[in-house]
Amino acid sequence: MIRSVMQRVTKPRRENKTKPGAHAPPLRAVYRDLYRAWGPQQWWPARTRFEVIVGAILTQNTAWSNVEKAIRRLRAARALNPETLHRARLEQVAEWIRPAGYFNVKARRLRAFTDLLYGRFAGKLNRLFALDTAALRAALLSVNGIGPETADSILLYAAQRPRFVIDAYTRRVLVRHGWIGPEAGYDEMAALFMRTVPEDTALYNEYHALLVRLGKYYCKPVPQCAACPLRARLPASGPRPL
Ligand code: SF4
Repeated sequence: MIRSVMQRVTKPRRENKTKPGAHAPPLRAVYRDLYRAWGPQQWWPARTRFEVIVGAILTQNTAWSNVEKAIRRLRAARALNPETLHRARLEQVAEWIRPAGYFNVKARRLRAFTDLLYGRFAGKLNRLFALDTAALRAALLSVNGIGPETADSILLYAAQRPRFVIDAYTRRVLVRHGWIGPEAGYDEMAALFMRTVPEDTALYNEYHALLVRLGKYYCKPVPQCAACPLRARLPASGPRPL
């Protein structure tokens, strides 16, 4: 499947519509550069759709290694399911997820999600995921503590919908290369990818994972351009300020 994903970004495609006459950011070529450098990233690292949702909420403001510890504790307590997380005392949920940091806040966010699930969908993920993409995104965004990045992570990795996920790493890359202004908001960046890169769940899955690797190891607060697979795509003057 990944091979076909590569082929789809290689196909000629209509021009980017950012601005008439403007240079389209080479986002399909960027994908090819990264994929050739590192290959498939095997995301999202979770066993079930519900685990993706829990991970997407717990990963806010913390390293993934801390999320893994919290997920292991939930699994060991047999609590990695909607019903247990919905029925348990909030203090108990916070204790299970303690390694993820901000555990009281995140326990309330998990509860807000299960409140939605039980309040409107009888506790069934299948019913929630039966919504069309726009309605599902709106339902997720209605949950206290679920913003656009978390909602799109759930849409892409749990519900298998073609929504591009934007995170701080992605923003850094776009701004440093001059492909978007430093003032650009989430929706503008997501729209840029979604009109430039073919709408394809597997491709968006892989692309976001590659950008995370790029941001983690190369496009760090101090960029490591000399060894980066995207160095040839930098402006002649070097990385732009954030
Ligand atoms: S070349 Fe430099 S600015 Fe561009 S993505 Fe790599 S580290 Fe970031």
